[in-house]
Amino acid sequence: MKGSLLYEGKAKRVYVTTDDQERLVLSYKDDATAFNGKKKSEFAGKGRLNNLITSKVFQYLHKQGIPTHFIEALNDTEQLVKRTTIIPLEVVVRNKAAGSITKRLGIEEKTRFHPPIIELFYKKDELNDPLINDVHAYHLTDVKEQELTFIKEQAMIINEQLIALFQSAGLELADFKLEFGRLPDGTIVLSDEVSPDTCRLWDIKTGQKMDKDVFREEIGSLIEVYENILQRLEENVCAK
Ligand code: UDP
Repeated sequence: MKGSLLYEGKAKRVYVTTDDQERLVLSYKDDATAFNGKKKSEFAGKGRLNNLITSKVFQYLHKQGIPTHFIEALNDTEQLVKRTTIIPLEVVVRNKAAGSITKRLGIEEKTRFHPPIIELFYKKDELNDPLINDVHAYHLTDVKEQELTFIKEQAMIINEQLIALFQSAGLELADFKLEFGRLPDGTIVLSDEVSPDTCRLWDIKTGQKMDKDVFREEIGSLIEVYENILQRLEENVCAK
């Protein structure tokens, strides 16, 4: 059963469970933020969509043999997960240039990266989540060299699996962000969410942006786009 509020983030609330110390309930909010919280809004129904999309994606990754924190969706907006301690790193995988890398390095949007680029950002709002290197990560977090190698290998495998999943839904995966956490025994598993809030998804036929860029750039209806992503994943054989 859902217990008291443990933590509230920008997109989710985290609750303890009263019956098992090692499980948490994640409750997805309708809030949308971008540019490190500088742009804010609320979209009725967004929490449901991200909860259901993330649940589909994590079930799919589980079937592909990826260890994750996900246990099950409890209802439209909540999911049950294994308790982890989040490693404060944002692991970004880029197949095509978009967003911060286009500005930082002057690379034209849609430029293909082969092999994909992995970037690490230090999860710290006060510092605007700066880009860091591996040695910074050893200094700033408790990850060891071998563990960071494991995290990057997992990110590359997950990238291949997500490319296939989204491709079968008619979507190109330009980039995405992952977070990893530690189970009580120290094992590292994929945590947090994988949704149009954390991925850039482009319609393969039209090139239309079908993710949080709709909100960042104000180019359409976020809810309609997220609903469309969920529908495509539900129809999609890969995701079943
Ligand atoms: N991303 C995210 N949370 C963040 C920062 C980035 O989920 O706090 C995702 C973002 O949606 C995109 C990818 O990570 O799919 C790469 O983001 P980028 O570095 O381009 O930053 P942004 O353009 O979001 O500022």
